[in-house]
Amino acid sequence: MLQKRTKIVATIGPASESKEVLEQMVEAGMNVVRLNFSHGEHASHQVILERVREISREKNQAIAVLADMQGPRIRTEVKAEIPVEKDTEVTVSDIAHPECSAEILLDMKGISDGILPGHKILIEDGTIELEVVERNGECLKTKALNKGLIKNRKGVILPDSELELDILSEKDKKDLHFAVEHQVDYVGLSFVGSAEDIETVRKEMRAIAGEGVRVPKIISKIERKVAIANLSSIVKATDAVMVARGDLGIEMPTSEVVLLQKRIIHESLSSAKPVIVATQMMKSMTENPHPTRAEVSDVSNAVIDHTDAIMLSEESAMGKYPVETIATMSEIATKTEESPYDDVYRALHLNFRNEFSVLVRSAYEIAKSFNAEAIVVMTESGLSARLLSHFRPEKELLVATSDRRTWQELALVWGIRPYLYEGVTAIEEQKQKLLASAKADGHVQTGDKIVLFIGRTETDERMKLVGIQEVR
Ligand code: PGA
Ligand code: MN
Repeated sequence: MLQKRTKIVATIGPASESKEVLEQMVEAGMNVVRLNFSHGEHASHQVILERVREISREKNQAIAVLADMQGPRIRTEVKAEIPVEKDTEVTVSDIAHPECSAEILLDMKGISDGILPGHKILIEDGTIELEVVERNGECLKTKALNKGLIKNRKGVILPDSELELDILSEKDKKDLHFAVEHQVDYVGLSFVGSAEDIETVRKEMRAIAGEGVRVPKIISKIERKVAIANLSSIVKATDAVMVARGDLGIEMPTSEVVLLQKRIIHESLSSAKPVIVATQMMKSMTENPHPTRAEVSDVSNAVIDHTDAIMLSEESAMGKYPVETIATMSEIATKTEESPYDDVYRALHLNFRNEFSVLVRSAYEIAKSFNAEAIVVMTESGLSARLLSHFRPEKELLVATSDRRTWQELALVWGIRPYLYEGVTAIEEQKQKLLASAKADGHVQTGDKIVLFIGRTETDERMKLVGIQEVR
């Protein structure tokens, strides 16, 4: 009995924060809860986090929590709203330069240093475009390229400018503290520019957590032009990736977003890093009980691209139909996965080769050749399960661990059904428990062939491929 294999990440907000709705969302197919630190207070995030952990224990179901940092988002500061027509002149600077008396100040000190004549300044999701015509020191003269109203505290994108953005603002540092202390599973990094950004955050988290304490895994959001330029080093440095199509589609031509999505997914899978496709997947369901045909097509195509997960933002945070949206997404994913168009990998490309990857590949090949019903993986860190998932096996991927954090983290990863046996570290006992649970859930039956893979290294055993066994 195969269920949905593509995972669903849902942003939680006023529409979905009650325990009742959260429970229904889990039942409808939500695997990962996203807390968006661009909004909300620590106190409200904490309440949701506790509810999610409670539901996870009650239902004995793995749910990962993603704390998504706001990151270096630049915003406008205007005293009064500025109406512009095409070619209206507007002056711009940043808050370090009040002497410019500019009409618009960007709220990041020194940011105007990198903005040169010819560069674009995109405001409020790119709905208003300014082009710089002249620089006088740090005071910029621009002209509007279209009609609009420039408002206070709106997001600004500078696609052409070389910027030295600090990956963590003071607010982000506080939020990161919260995330580490409350042991969330993943931290989302907005506007990542380079592999160094990732290292900076990892170091910061390690300093907060202290020696030897497990820190959240990092999801790098690909949403800047420079991140596309540095894609392979970013993917190498990060733990997981998000195709953040909202901001990406402002920095890059919107017409290229779907192509970039495919490229980012391919790059992530080649490095065996989980990847999420985000933004506007089911946007119309914020208001309507049914998605548009284009949205159905978008979700279906992301599944065919073999993404690990698909994400909801305002649809689940403040929409009218949070549960229905997840149920609809689950249905689209399941139908797509069952169809012949979802051609699971015939020969997955991995851009690295070591003892582990070769062994994992063998487990995948054996399961395929002998038509095994399931691959059973015992893992502590989650690594071997993640590697196996990236071959996208057609049959069940049943994973046992004694580590709650690993169990939760694996909720994000394609096709993995994680089982938790806290305190049970003996491999044989773990295997027996897993098979009993999987039989009870209907995922395997007596007489089925399974391939057993032991990824545990903690007792100094190397990764081990045990081969084919029969379920008794
Ligand atoms: P955001 O990220 O919703 O935090 O901006 C996603 C995106 O940009 O697509
Ligand atoms: Mn974004």
